[in-house]
Amino acid sequence: MSNRPTSPLNPRERILMGPGPSTVPARILRALAAPTLGHLDPQFIEYMDDTCQLIRDAYQTKNLLSFPVSGTGMAGMETIIANLIEPADEAIVCINGVFGGRMKDNLQRCGATVHAIEVPWGETFSNEAIAEAVEKHPNAKMLGIVHAETSTGAHQDLSGLAEIVHDAGMLLAVDAVTSLGGHELKVDEWGIDAIYSGTQKCLSCPPGLSPVSFSDRALERMDQRKTKVQSWYLDVSMLKNYYTGSGGRAYHHTAPINMIYALRESLAIVMEEGLENRIARHREMHLLLREGLEDLGFTYIPKQSLCTLNCVALPDGVDDAGIRGRLLSEYDIEIGGGLGVFAGKAWRIGLMGHSATKRNINTLLAALSDVM
Ligand code: PLP
Repeated sequence: MSNRPTSPLNPRERILMGPGPSTVPARILRALAAPTLGHLDPQFIEYMDDTCQLIRDAYQTKNLLSFPVSGTGMAGMETIIANLIEPADEAIVCINGVFGGRMKDNLQRCGATVHAIEVPWGETFSNEAIAEAVEKHPNAKMLGIVHAETSTGAHQDLSGLAEIVHDAGMLLAVDAVTSLGGHELKVDEWGIDAIYSGTQKCLSCPPGLSPVSFSDRALERMDQRKTKVQSWYLDVSMLKNYYTGSGGRAYHHTAPINMIYALRESLAIVMEEGLENRIARHREMHLLLREGLEDLGFTYIPKQSLCTLNCVALPDGVDDAGIRGRLLSEYDIEIGGGLGVFAGKAWRIGLMGHSATKRNINTLLAALSDVM
């Protein structure tokens, strides 16, 4: 006989201040527990329409094709790349951390020849550097860039980028996994053609969906494809009827009903707070945490730091895994270790959505003073 678990799940209530997921408020957990409807039930279709409209509002876009991909942030990245790139296309990707690197890998898996431009981890790209790359590779179809590099805490300025990219006939694709709902993000004003995010960061929803949005320019590119999208599951030409209602709501795959409830609820909370207020709160909390961490001897790695992800170098002699372990076991606080080149040298402290509160920050700072 195997030792099958028989007692109910009883996960601890942690304070989630790592690189995601963030703490999920009770209102969203209650939405998850609502009765499951069928994915073609008119009541559910209404909830789905609400969700797509809320995604547009959060991205500040009028793009009709804005919907939650069934899958986490990586599924959003794959959706954008698989649909906009055909084998033998060229693409430019900006790499300053883990996630730009993943974009490159995905582009190559779709058959693209990739021109990567790189700056050291923690730094960001100037528009001049991007203009130079665009000029050097005029046949590229797309330029991919990460708005909020969760592996380094660097905040990429996206203003003025679209003109450079569009003048060369390319599409601008953006990773907004750690910025949607926590940083200013103006998809239409900034001329972004394709964007993806995740539910578990600044939206404070459990992981499981990836809100995406495509511009009309991106739609035209997809309509001109000569080859089939290599992923059946993520092929937007088959998905779009269900999400936009154009041509009827045909079944493609079963929508993750209860996760859609949760996302709708989390986006409703974002809108109730107001985008501007929410962004201001993330900034205020970042400044409060920053002051406390600097007082304890930590230094911020990126020059242009995100408010939502604080990446700090460890002072000499700090026992990385030991202290993070004590924060978790003694205080129920999760923070993240360094990734890639920063492994063992940095911490990543998330201030995302429901986790970005004065109470959490002061609890963490007091706990750190105790365990360090
Ligand atoms: N892009 C960035 C910037 C991320 O931070 C993450 C996850 O941390 C992803 C993509 C991938 O998202 P997921 O882990 O939800 O698949």
